[in-house]
Order: sequence, then structure tokens, then C-alpha cells
Amino acid sequence: MSLRIYNTLSGEKELFESVKPGEVSIYLCGPTVYKPAHIGHAVGPVIFDVIKRYLSFKSYRVKWVVNVTDVEDKLINEARAQGRGVMELARDLEEKYVAGMSALGVRSIDHMPRASEHIQEIIQHIQMLISRDAAYAVDGDVYFDVSKDADYGKLSRRKSEEQFAGTRDGLVQGKKRNPGDFAMWKAAKPDEPDDVVYPSPWGRGRPGWHIECSALAMKLLGETIDIHGGGLDLKFPHHENEIAQSETATGKPFARFWLHNGLTRFNTKKISKSDPEFEKVMASLQLSNLLTKHSPELLRFLIISSHYRSPIDFSDDALAASKTGLNTFYRLMERLERAILADPYKIASQIENIRDMAGEPMIRDFMDKIMNLRVRFLEAMDDDFNTAGAIGVLFEMAGAINRFIDESRLETQANDQNRVVVQAAGGSFVFMANILGLLCSKPSAGKLSEDGLTPKLMELLIDVRKLSREAKQYQIGDHIRAELTKLGVTLEDRKDGTQWRIE
Ligand SMILES: [Zn+2]
Repeated sequence: MSLRIYNTLSGEKELFESVKPGEVSIYLCGPTVYKPAHIGHAVGPVIFDVIKRYLSFKSYRVKWVVNVTDVEDKLINEARAQGRGVMELARDLEEKYVAGMSALGVRSIDHMPRASEHIQEIIQHIQMLISRDAAYAVDGDVYFDVSKDADYGKLSRRKSEEQFAGTRDGLVQGKKRNPGDFAMWKAAKPDEPDDVVYPSPWGRGRPGWHIECSALAMKLLGETIDIHGGGLDLKFPHHENEIAQSETATGKPFARFWLHNGLTRFNTKKISKSDPEFEKVMASLQLSNLLTKHSPELLRFLIISSHYRSPIDFSDDALAASKTGLNTFYRLMERLERAILADPYKIASQIENIRDMAGEPMIRDFMDKIMNLRVRFLEAMDDDFNTAGAIGVLFEMAGAINRFIDESRLETQANDQNRVVVQAAGGSFVFMANILGLLCSKPSAGKLSEDGLTPKLMELLIDVRKLSREAKQYQIGDHIRAELTKLGVTLEDRKDGTQWRIE
């Protein structure tokens, strides 16, 4: 089986081959840390986390870089509005972004370089472009000259002249040579805070956004990277400009594969910044708010239930459907635990390990079915990381395992052979789910808190424990505490009452 990936550059699915055998470099355009992350910001990282997991499963050594844009107009304006230092705000939001991603199970990013800490690399890159006559300085600004790049527009299939009217401003002011030229360095404005103003050969100023990605990707991943990703909205002009800056500097392809993920839609409506509801919708979609209401695994499941190139519809209905789907998996895991008398989240065995085991026709059929589904799961992932198809196969696998447990009556009738078979089938199921970053650990905390029931039940248990102690029935209270400890819940008796927390 071989991996095929849709490449925006060619508009086709292409056979994946890495630049260096056995190694894959991935660059994903990261957050501009000026506002709290919302669910849309999590889509790219979750998808690329799955991509990294799958490539690692295929024995590639993967290096993944996500930049942090901490020098930018929007950030400067937001810090000013909040009366905070630019870097203070940027670090605060970066920390929250990392915490949100970590909660979602995205812990596989290798480097998160900050633009503000790579100003010298950015300046050197701009100098190289000036020396090649592909860039020019005007009044402390430096622009890329798109007329020097014959390929400009190859990713988005747009020509620079088709750019938005707004970019003509510089031309009107007599700064730009061509309407499509874009700033790589911006002269400092008189009222800008010192912490975003840097010295340069063209005077004090700061880098533009596009150049940051070219300079950081090349520094950390080399002149040609394997996979460059980002949201569909970044294709033009951001990625087009990254290509122009990078390929004009090196004369080599900047990225072999360009992957663009679909945008998040709220109730099937694309979120537009001009929409009057925009701010309200964004607050409800803030990752930190969502994570108080829903388990991280539910959000991940929802994101990867669509193919990454499709838009993601984020709505109560979509959440409910994902919850139902995920619960099917949780119920299977609970059943597996009863059937195999072991923790199903830690099964080492897989179906191919026992393929030579002799058995009745029912066992053979079941093993064939699971092995066939395993192949289909990998085929779906090989087909442009079709996570939606892969999840569909997991449902089929769950159904097959449930049926086998039913038919073998394993939960009530001990049978070593059936137990070994179910254990291996369950192991294959969990292994596949883990590739998607699902079922990596028991969801005790997250799953229970989805509907807000946990706090109410805890209140009830604490109350029962208090009543039993008042009635001197200490063994009941002790039993409640001991059983909760097993579930990872700790009780702490304090003067103001009993507190609980999930460890
Ligand atoms: Zn970028």
C-alpha cells in the first residue's frame, strides 16, 4: 500500500515520496497570538497530529514545525486596546494555545519558533532577495517584486494583478512597483511600542507576516520541505508569497506537497469577520470555553470525522452526533474489559499475531473479518489521510467485535481461546484508534463531564458520605472514598466542606 496525498500545487492526488528517504519534514502555519484560540485554530494542529502519527506508523522520522506569529499589526492593536505590553500579551496567549492543543492530544509538535526571536534570519533572507534584485527598499519598507517571479500564482492559479484593490494603496503612494508586490519589512510607525521595533539595514521596523514563514521553515527544515500545511484561507496570498520568497531565494522547490484544510463553519455558515454575530460566535467557540463543556476527545473526534479538505460544521447537532459515535467506542471498551479481564487501553496483542491459530469456523471468519478491516483502515489513511473513512472502518470493527462477544457469550462463559481472539481483535481496534489519537487513555474525567452531570453526582456522593458518617456508618463513607480513588477522584475534607478533584 502506498500513500497518496492531494497536492494543491498540482490539483491532484500524488504518490508521496519524501525528499530524504525515511524522513518527513512538515511546516504548518501557526497562530497569530493576539486573541484566544477558537476551535477553528485547533483543526490544522489536530489534523497534522494525525498525519504525523500515521507517517510515524509508516516508519518515517517526522519533524513538525509550527510557527508563532508574535510580531503583527493585529497583536500590536490588541495589546494597545488592553493596555498591555505586546510580548506580555503574546506569551500569555501562546501559553494558552499550547495548553489547549495539549488538552486535545496535540503534543507532537517538534518546534514552535517565534517570529520575534528570528529577526536576524528574516533580515538575511530579505537581503538575499534584494541582492537577487527580487526585492527593493522604499522609505524604510522592503517589498518583494512579483514581476521577478515568473511562477507567481502557481499555487492559487491567480495572477498578482487579481489581488484585492486594497493592495493598490502602496502603488498609489508611489511605493510599490507592481500592485501585487508585498511588504517583507515594514518601517516602524512613530507611535509603535518599542518591543516590536527592531533595527535593520533599512532602518527601524519589523518583518511582515509572509517572510516569517519562509525564513523559519528554511532554518528548521531546510530549503525544500516535504509537506506545507495551513487553512484554505492561507492559500492566497500567504502561501503564494511564501513560495515566491523562498523559491526566488534558493531556486529550489519550497515544499513538495501543499495541504490545505477546510475552514470551520458554525451551523453550516462560514464565519465571516464582517458578520455582526462574529464576536459572539467566536466567544462560544473559544477552545478554553469548549473544553469546559466537552471532552477533548469529543472535539478531536468531531474534527477528524470529516475529511481534512472538507469544511468542518461545528454545531450542537454535530457535537451530539460525535458524542453518539464516540460512545459506541467507549461502550465497546467497557465490554472488552469485561470480556478479556484486562485493561483494553493497554492491549499489546494484535490480530495478525494469532493468524495461525487453529480454530472453529466462527473464529476463522471473525479473524479474517478483522484483518480485512485493518487493511481497509490503512487504505483509507493512504488515500489522502481519509480519517472519515478510517473512522467508518473502526465502527465496522466495533460491530464485528461486539457480535463475536455476543455469539461466543464470552462475558458469561469463560473460554480461553475466545478470550485470546477477542483480545487480539480488540488490540487491533485500539491500535487503529490510537493512530487517529483516539482511545489513547481511559476517558474517565472528560467523558463524564461532557453533560455537566459529574459535579451533580459528586455532590450527591459527598452528601451520602456525610450522612453515613453522621450515622456512624463509617464503612460506607470509607467505601465511597476508596472506590472514588480507584476512579481517579480524590476527596479532601476541609473546614468548609469536602472538595473533590479528578487527578
Ligand atoms: Zn505561513
